[in-house]
Amino acid sequence: MKTTQSENLYQRAQCVTPGGVNSPVRAFKGVGGTPRFIARGEGAYVFDVDNNQYLDYVLSWGPLILGHAHPAVIAAIYEAASLGTSFGAPTEREVQLATSIVNLFPSIDMMRFVSSGTEATMSAIRLARAFTGREKIIKFSGGFHGHADMLLAEAGSGMATLSLPSCAGVPIAATADTIIVPYNDLEATTQVFEKNIGKIAGIIVEPIAGNMGFVLPSADFLPGLSVLCKQHGALFIFDEVMTGFRAAWPGTQTHYNIIPDITCLGKVIGGGLPIAAYGGRQEIMEKVAPLGAMYQSGTLSGNPLGTAAGIATLKILETPALFAEITQKTSRLIEGIQHVAQVHRIRIQASSMGSMFGFYFLNGETPELENPITNYEEAKKYVHSKRYAQFFHEMLNRGYYFAPSAFEAGFLSSAHSDTDIENTLTAFHETFKVLG
Ligand SMILES: *Cc1c(COP(=O)(O)O)cnc(C)c1O
Repeated sequence: MKTTQSENLYQRAQCVTPGGVNSPVRAFKGVGGTPRFIARGEGAYVFDVDNNQYLDYVLSWGPLILGHAHPAVIAAIYEAASLGTSFGAPTEREVQLATSIVNLFPSIDMMRFVSSGTEATMSAIRLARAFTGREKIIKFSGGFHGHADMLLAEAGSGMATLSLPSCAGVPIAATADTIIVPYNDLEATTQVFEKNIGKIAGIIVEPIAGNMGFVLPSADFLPGLSVLCKQHGALFIFDEVMTGFRAAWPGTQTHYNIIPDITCLGKVIGGGLPIAAYGGRQEIMEKVAPLGAMYQSGTLSGNPLGTAAGIATLKILETPALFAEITQKTSRLIEGIQHVAQVHRIRIQASSMGSMFGFYFLNGETPELENPITNYEEAKKYVHSKRYAQFFHEMLNRGYYFAPSAFEAGFLSSAHSDTDIENTLTAFHETFKVLG
């Protein structure tokens, strides 16, 4: 596989941008090698600047549930762009997209658009503090909620890939009120509440952990957190930036039958453009300015191109059976991977929900349990990162683009065909043979 153009661009990029990338995990630090510079995407495929073709299981880290450059989404963006790209004034599309979301989520009476998931979670935390008049928040280790100061402690995603427990430049005071608890540990969370009576503003959780690899919540975890929040007058914040319209329709809160107080959305709702949102019950959202005293704003918030792409994406995603179809294909992929691993006697932990999936290569220290990894501490102990890196490059060279990190989830789109999946599994066979 020729990669001259990517190598040249990577050299140039490193001169003008830290690490040559505009978001850390893109730099391939977790797996080594030269990141591929992408020239274009079409359906389930991306093409790099050397004209290599890859079947894409990253999909811009989740947003592109309809695949790259879906004609209807592109048409909606063109149409919106021709009328002007930003006004700093309200538009009809914002009302339309917000109404769809409010109608779909029983937990959301009102919502506010922002431009990134980071802004959504940052605002949700501020809102929980404003509503409760309390300052402490609980997050889970390995949980990633964007890069706001108070949430950059024991965070997943790039922080996990680069093994950074904390972030330089974040003042101690910024995370002093952030209490970290292991994911899936209801007992430890209960103790935190008991030690901090009347002080916890809220819990922020990834209902499915997708930034430390892929970890499902245990059956009692989310309901238990919900009860704890109610008992202690804290707000339950569901960070569905990754899982919303992805792991379940419309979100995992429906699947798990939980009514959170605040929900964060992003990724899929922007259809590949920078749109995210936070929303919740009316009495909570009425705290947000200009109705209330919790200030939050954005020059490009509710951007016409983003809302157009979001509306077009959700409209297609609502096509009967489409969501179920992508879900089924994802299950087939995961079952296939499990089968291939068994045949080659390579220990993995693989699972999926909706069109979001993950698989860990397990090392020799891993206990003989069906799902030995239930939180970030276990992921760090049992993940065979070297084997993942080898797997990653074997697949990349065969034209399959998986996340360049052992600690990230993968995604499917409606553009991934049955043949794509069969071919992927054949490539897994060949790769697992080489892995030994
Ligand atoms: C991606 C992600 C974010 C951050 O979103 P950005 O748009 O990258 O700022 C927040 N929370 C979760 C769960 C995410 O997966």
